[in-house]
Amino acid sequence: SAAVIPVKNHGIRREQLSSGARRTVEGLQKAGYKAYVVGGAVRDLLAGIPPKDFDVATNATPEQVRACFRRSRIIGRRFQIVHVMMGAETLEVTTFRAIHASNAPTDEHGRVLRDNVFGTMAEDAARRDFTVNALYYDPADETIHDYHHGVADLKQKTLRMIGDPKVRYREDPVRMLRAVRLGAKLNLAIDPAARRPIREMSELIENVPPARLFDEMLKLLTSGYAVRCVKQLREEGLHHGLLPLLDVILEQPLGERFVMLALANTDERVQAGKPTSPGFLFATLLWHEVLGQWEKNKANGERPIPALFAAMDEVLDVQAEKLAITRRIAGDIKDIWALQPRFEARSGKKPYAVLEQPRFKAGYDFLLLRAESGEVDRELGEWWRRFLNAEGEERQAMLLPEA
Ligand code: ATP
Ligand code: MG
Repeated sequence: SAAVIPVKNHGIRREQLSSGARRTVEGLQKAGYKAYVVGGAVRDLLAGIPPKDFDVATNATPEQVRACFRRSRIIGRRFQIVHVMMGAETLEVTTFRAIHASNAPTDEHGRVLRDNVFGTMAEDAARRDFTVNALYYDPADETIHDYHHGVADLKQKTLRMIGDPKVRYREDPVRMLRAVRLGAKLNLAIDPAARRPIREMSELIENVPPARLFDEMLKLLTSGYAVRCVKQLREEGLHHGLLPLLDVILEQPLGERFVMLALANTDERVQAGKPTSPGFLFATLLWHEVLGQWEKNKANGERPIPALFAAMDEVLDVQAEKLAITRRIAGDIKDIWALQPRFEARSGKKPYAVLEQPRFKAGYDFLLLRAESGEVDRELGEWWRRFLNAEGEERQAMLLPEA
């Protein structure tokens, strides 16, 4: 049963919820259902971090939730959730569910394939991953329902798994990545019992469907704490096989510096509330693979530009096997890479043509990172910075003589 923690002991006021979250919970409660804000939002509020979004858990079935809100729709087939639209917000409303570990279908590694059985609130708490993620906030009386001592764990800065960590990782290996990401984001130490098995179980990640792995890696890399996450992934021995060849990249001195600069740059943008592009990020992570392959192709006698385009395709093909990089993102990645040799040409009309490229800004930011990491001459990045800021006559004067 749950400890019911009053507001004087946790301090979260209903005003801290988004208006959409409050109205959704109130709407369900008025109709006679139980409803709570749950998961990451409660955890983040307790930790003093503004929540990204609010999720609601309820004992109403998806059809019953649907009937409570005019602007709502049921999504998902295997496990249905309801999206409730409130102004510009979309709330995710989930019916309490249970995992029946004894008879849930699993694959040959123990990975749970389906968990679509409605359950009690206590069962809903038990199927969640970490104690700090199993907190239910009721805005009506401002209490937190805490089934697994999550509030105490958060105070003690511990990320603790609910249940036996080995079993929980086998059910869903993505939880190993979540442990690292949430530990880094909330500055929590992963409890030794949850930390220890990661090294020996890390290869189970290979059984995760690529699309899910891609989503999870993207969450990690755009969490605003990517540098901390990647360092932790390495410490846990988890970088192997995640982005195939990420470990190779990280072991090249030049590649490492470049990747870390790119991640630090992304962290800064996320923390400043600026948008980030997955294309840019993956372009940086894979760049030194492209450089290596490019050299090989040139050594085989291919001409430079065709050799680069072949290298881009070869690297992306390898990655696509593991990470379901969408076609659109792959297109963005290639645009950024393809611009790089064009920055070398600094005479005649060529630099003006580069400025007109639709992906110029991303390509230019990428060039600056390359220069900062020492892969290309700093002077090249500096030249482009000045060229951008210069006007007509000045620009003309900057051009190098035709070779
Ligand atoms: P954030 O939103 O900051 O990325 P989060 O914890 O909210 O972190 P979500 O993916 O939004 O992550 O998941 C919402 C909630 O669902 C979690 O807080 C947790 O209770 C539960 N959950 C998510 N993924 C898993 C999982 N793999 N196993 C068990 N429970 C999970
Ligand atoms: Mg969330």
